[in-house]
Amino acid sequence: KQARSGVAVYEPGRDEVHLRQLTLMGDLRQSLVRGQLSLRFQPKVDLATRQVKHAEALLRWRHDDLGAIPPDEFIPLAERSGFVHELTRFVLEQALQQNSLWREQGLDLGVAVNLSAMDLMDADLPDFIQACLRRHRVPPPRLILEVTESALMRDVDYAVRMLHRLRASGLRLAIDDFGTGYSSLAQLKRLPVDELKIDKSFVTQMTEGSDDAVIVRSTIELGHNMGLSVIAEGVENDSSLVLLERYRCDMVQGYLFSAPLEGGALMDWCRNFAGAEA
Ligand code: C2E
Ligand code: MG
Ligand code: MG
Ligand code: MG
Repeated sequence: KQARSGVAVYEPGRDEVHLRQLTLMGDLRQSLVRGQLSLRFQPKVDLATRQVKHAEALLRWRHDDLGAIPPDEFIPLAERSGFVHELTRFVLEQALQQNSLWREQGLDLGVAVNLSAMDLMDADLPDFIQACLRRHRVPPPRLILEVTESALMRDVDYAVRMLHRLRASGLRLAIDDFGTGYSSLAQLKRLPVDELKIDKSFVTQMTEGSDDAVIVRSTIELGHNMGLSVIAEGVENDSSLVLLERYRCDMVQGYLFSAPLEGGALMDWCRNFAGAEA
């Protein structure tokens, strides 16, 4: 930054941040072949039946020197370097493989995979997904693709066309982080989606009578009026859960139930959860 006087102002940490980004961007490509990337799975629980309906796949990167790098940090770098398409294919492959493993062991779950904004521009992605579903013998409705509201709003016409193409193979679509992306009702109505995920920033600290609670309640009503299944993410405590039940939210996801788990651990968790609720 230049100050008015023309003298450069010191921004603490700016160079360090820049250096870290360059390092990470360079190492990201290698992370795949070096086996540093893995998936965790977080259950989405149906509120009415108390059954686990889906598990969301969340990508993890363990860097040799820098330790765990959060996806909110490395996904944007992958988008900038054009690596994200490969990354998304890796996640889809792993998630569907895990899903067929669960299936073989008698657990019939859906698996949700996050797409980045740039994936919507990947014209070959629908064919890849269709082939991947066949390869792993996963019924298409058992795959849910989550796309953030802001990614969809970058170019709504294009997004609508891409969503129709993706949906043609029978999979399901969710709008992620809903409430943070400034979409209009007119735009929302055009999106061929099945599920709406309320952003955790409204859910985590919602208390009776708060602005957050009002937003969550009206978003659930909006979703239902549009024929969508509504899910709240970031459910951390009982008081949010009580309100979400009162508002007839369809599904919940958050630390109150479980953190993201390894594939095998998720299966055990589902079995215990079903047992505990019976
Ligand atoms: P998201 O898709 O909205 O995922 C939800 C995030 O909230 C996850 O963070 C999850 O670990 C976290 N979370 C779950 N329960 C709670 C809770 O009760 N409280 C709070 N405060 N947080 C909770 P995570 O795993 O760090 O992922 C962050 C974001 O990175 C994701 O947000 C998603 O946008 C992106 N991401 C993760 N994996 C992938 C991937 O494979 N591909 C792409 N394109 N993006 C991914
Ligand atoms: Mg998500
Ligand atoms: Mg989200
Ligand atoms: Mg998010």
